[in-house]
Amino acid sequence: MEEKLMKLYNECIKELQSIKINVINNESIGEIDIKLAKRNSKRYGCCKQGDPDKKYYHISKIGKRKTKQYDIFKKHHIEISKWVLDLDNDIIKNTIMHEIIHCFPYCNNHGKEFKKYSSYINENLGYNITRLGNKEEDFKKSNLEYKESINNYKYKIICNKCGQIIYRQRFKEKSISSYRCGKCGGTLKLI
Ligand SMILES: [Zn+2]
Ligand SMILES: [Zn+2]
Repeated sequence: MEEKLMKLYNECIKELQSIKINVINNESIGEIDIKLAKRNSKRYGCCKQGDPDKKYYHISKIGKRKTKQYDIFKKHHIEISKWVLDLDNDIIKNTIMHEIIHCFPYCNNHGKEFKKYSSYINENLGYNITRLGNKEEDFKKSNLEYKESINNYKYKIICNKCGQIIYRQRFKEKSISSYRCGKCGGTLKLI
């Protein structure tokens, strides 16, 4: 799975190069690493920032509290949730691209700069980067059963007929032959 993630990440980097966004050896971006998240999360992914350039910051107000927020970081640790890797490649790449943008200067939020990059990439590379993803839609597109509890399933089952992937918290392995796919009525197999 880690291998698939690296392959898709490298594809994203190459595509960015083709529209003149150089991510590798770019001083204003710094270093990026990417891995699968260890913990299950509802989020598609996240980008943990490190080593801020303390010259660049803004003050943001949340209610009455003011906090200093840095705008440029030299280290970025992208983590992608495991369940995302079950989705279609173009959706995985949308997620990766979204997190790569967070590594750019002034992009550690979904503000103006983030939007500028995401629409540039959407237009020129045919992506569909959004602020948040639409899980229900993404699951449907990938022929996966949509479940809010996706991040703590125990069993992953595939329909032999339509290929839909079904997640279950509880499941009697022995009686798998008596279960049927809710979408097409096909028989099921544990994977
Ligand atoms: Zn984001
Ligand atoms: Zn089916």
